[in-house]
Amino acid sequence: MYRTHNCGELRIKNINTEVVLSGWVQKVRKLGGMTFVDLRDRYGITQLVFNDETDADLSEKAQKLGREFVIKITGKVTERSSKNPDLPTGEIEITVNDLEILSKSEIPPFTIEENTDGGEEIRLKYRYLDLRRPNVQKGIILRHKTTREIRNFLSNKGFLEIETPFLIKSTPEGARDFVVPSRMSEGKFYALPQSPQVFKQLLMIGGYDKYFQITKCFRDEDFRADRQPEFTQIDCEMSFVERDDVLTVFEEMTKHIFKKVMNIDFPETFPRLKYDEAMEKYGSDKPDIRFEMKIHEISKSAKNKGFKIFDDAEYVGAICAEGLASYSRKQLDKLVDFVKRPQIGAKGLVYVKYNEDGTFKSSVDKFYSAEDLKTWADTLSAKPGDLILVMSGNKKETLTQLGELRLEMGDRSELRDKNKFAPLWIIDFPLFEKDEETGQLHAMHHPFTSPKISDIELLDTDPEAVKANAYDLVINGNEIGGGSIRIHNTEMQEKMFEHLGFTKEEAEEQFGFLMNAFKYGAPPHGGIAFGLDRWVALLNGSESIRDVMAFPKNNAGRDLMIDAPSEIDKQQLEDLHLTVVKKF
Ligand code: ASP
Repeated sequence: MYRTHNCGELRIKNINTEVVLSGWVQKVRKLGGMTFVDLRDRYGITQLVFNDETDADLSEKAQKLGREFVIKITGKVTERSSKNPDLPTGEIEITVNDLEILSKSEIPPFTIEENTDGGEEIRLKYRYLDLRRPNVQKGIILRHKTTREIRNFLSNKGFLEIETPFLIKSTPEGARDFVVPSRMSEGKFYALPQSPQVFKQLLMIGGYDKYFQITKCFRDEDFRADRQPEFTQIDCEMSFVERDDVLTVFEEMTKHIFKKVMNIDFPETFPRLKYDEAMEKYGSDKPDIRFEMKIHEISKSAKNKGFKIFDDAEYVGAICAEGLASYSRKQLDKLVDFVKRPQIGAKGLVYVKYNEDGTFKSSVDKFYSAEDLKTWADTLSAKPGDLILVMSGNKKETLTQLGELRLEMGDRSELRDKNKFAPLWIIDFPLFEKDEETGQLHAMHHPFTSPKISDIELLDTDPEAVKANAYDLVINGNEIGGGSIRIHNTEMQEKMFEHLGFTKEEAEEQFGFLMNAFKYGAPPHGGIAFGLDRWVALLNGSESIRDVMAFPKNNAGRDLMIDAPSEIDKQQLEDLHLTVVKKF
């Protein structure tokens, strides 16, 4: 027998019990005639003690143990003379009478502790060692609890978990497909699903009115911050539903997860914000509403005072950072640098200090009187002591830039508390977004999203004004989930493809199977998919989704541990009818 208990469970009540424990050696130290070993497994750490005098041989064996050796011991639970209140097992130790080395270890490349000395690349290369660290385990365990609660909740609501294939034909979620060459069909390729979108819709047509699946999705995207080529969705679909039916079920699921996993209650219904309003007020379609600092337009009062930059701008807007009128020249310069960064791309920033004594000091004092500035302050409900930050330009861009600035100011003022969660729904997204260069319309969500019924007439006359019956769940500035009510008839789907620039033949070639299925009794349906990795990262207080994935890839999409992607041998290439054209 390897163990009677794990390394995290023995307490004072177990005193005098004979136990067998197995685990990893965290640390060995000698102290005043005793040798102590910290034995670790995923449940915790238990202290082992060896008496150098009464049992010299065993003690010597213990002293020779290296870090990360796997051992098995037999011993008796005894009360510690110096207790460690920071450790759940800190009141006891095991007086060992037998020690067996199960497996030796080389010196690990970094320390297996909460705060390791290993950089990310080395930790990813030795991920199996990184996984032993308690804080990594915490994320993995949280992920398990979350998926368990999702399965419980949805199963209790009558949802069926149904798998869909990975080797498929392209699904249009807006990214590039990963493809898999077919050996048996020469020159043909499968695509890996970017999501199970079309399959879940086909399941609705198949009569499975409540479906879910916790599944991998694959998107070949350029590696922006914190993207993974494969990630996990909680994918859901329902038949005979309208938008609010979907929102009700999944709001309840969200509350269930927060309650069961984090013991957090959300007594109120989640706020719902229209896309347009989210853009106007927060400069983002995934606003962080843990704090206010809303954007206000001040175009009217800012224009026609001789300040050319504002006069020429389509839009002038501002935010008010509470209590920051004391910002120094240097701090303000830093903010200007911040908005000028290429990721934000603004040309500049105007500040107005509303001083404690009621006077104003701004970077545009030449053009605006105190009275003018007071008008801005009033629009923003600013008080003496506050700092007003103004940006201008093209409306859409300026709003986005102000949105970024708002988040930065939120961070600086510590308004984005990791332990606070602020969920909301964003609704009424535009159906299309236009490629500014080519003028081509793209589906903002995906091509199967239904327009709002009230907007259908606009489809032919003003497609850009059409709103989609689509929704996102946003928490703390993260898009956690998104979905829509779907198109369920062939004519509407054909029309949608036409708007998206598909010829009839292209639409038929790619999605003929779906439009054909619509001809055999398609129920009205809609659904949603959540990003499990992001959600768990948020619950875990992690910046990166890598923290909550057992085997993540690095920022360049490489698995450093198994060394993938890698070359394949000549025979494999031949079997797959492939030739690699090397670029030099
Ligand atoms: N398939 C969509 C996505 O991956 C989600 C949905 O519409 O249900 O974003």
